[in-house]
Amino acid sequence: MIPMVDLKTQYALLKDEIDAGLLAALENTAFVMGPNVQAFEKEAADYLGVKHAIAVANGTEALHMALIAVGIGDDDEVITSAFTFIATAEAICYVRAKPVFVDIDPRTFNITPESIEAAITPRTKAIMPVHLFGQPCDMAGIRAVADRHGLKIIEDCAQSFGASIDGKQTGSMGLVGGTSFFPSKNLGAYGDGGMLMTHSDDIAQQVKVLRNHGSEVRYYHDVIGFNSRLDELQAVILRVKLKRIEQFNAGRRHAAHLYSQLLAGLPLETPYEDGIGIHVYHQYTLLSDQRDAIMAALQQANIACAIYYPVPLHQQKVFAEYCAGLGLPATEAVAARCLSLPMYPELTDEQVREVVRVIRST
Ligand SMILES: *Cc1c(COP(=O)(O)O)cnc(C)c1O
Repeated sequence: MIPMVDLKTQYALLKDEIDAGLLAALENTAFVMGPNVQAFEKEAADYLGVKHAIAVANGTEALHMALIAVGIGDDDEVITSAFTFIATAEAICYVRAKPVFVDIDPRTFNITPESIEAAITPRTKAIMPVHLFGQPCDMAGIRAVADRHGLKIIEDCAQSFGASIDGKQTGSMGLVGGTSFFPSKNLGAYGDGGMLMTHSDDIAQQVKVLRNHGSEVRYYHDVIGFNSRLDELQAVILRVKLKRIEQFNAGRRHAAHLYSQLLAGLPLETPYEDGIGIHVYHQYTLLSDQRDAIMAALQQANIACAIYYPVPLHQQKVFAEYCAGLGLPATEAVAARCLSLPMYPELTDEQVREVVRVIRST
């Protein structure tokens, strides 16, 4: 049995440190906005190279509050990918702005400066690039487009914690970034969690108020905010894991490169690294015309696999009317052929070989 993600093996490796930290936090009883949340924010800001890292309840709310803080609202257009998790577009809709879905590069699965530029209208206010599956978008190209048109960049780095371009972390290259600590993400908690990162004092201050019921001074409320704080117990776990994020991501890259090496020569496309940045392989996703056969063989061999994402956002029921007539050929072609294999830092060479053996035998 090889799962998509193996949180049990990782917990066994970190158990002593996590258990001791949790016990100490339970005895301390500062359960909301306690010392571990504050320490985690400082440690994450240092790691990410941003002035402010603000811990919140989940990645979706991180993106939502990021959009509010940069001033996106009614009928503004935000250019983003249709080949992503729904949360990216949900955040845009929460502020009553319009997601404008543009096509991806079929090799990297990321939206491109060209596809973004072609979709700009007088109502466009922002670009929300998604560093999908852990590969950074072409941020220099996207920044050039943003600068030319006076657009704000909000990075969705939910799948790219630790990915970087020339030493700059994803989330540090736009005006603001939002990430997720959902358990299966590269930096995962044992429940929900999220974070906003920014160099801007103004955005940071707004988000600190927004996440805490619109209140800077207790029981004085200046705006309508949210209850969106990171839990103290999750902060304990995230601090233990943040110290090892480089090692975790190196483990993912090792497994990914072994997969690609062993799958070479088969009639399928292994993930393409465009060399712009460091890919941290949140997912290892290949393209194949024989996807159904590969899936059946893996299932038969008790090996997990998954389709991320079977239906791009512009074809989802929720956006059906809004996107009527919109065609995104590369996105649609990728959605029809993509398959993600088991991927986690502790995946062993033997496990990778076993997965490849089954795929080769189909
Ligand atoms: C996971 C994810 C989110 C949302 O994060 P949550 O913490 O689950 O709310 C947003 N965007 C992308 C691309 C994601 O993968």
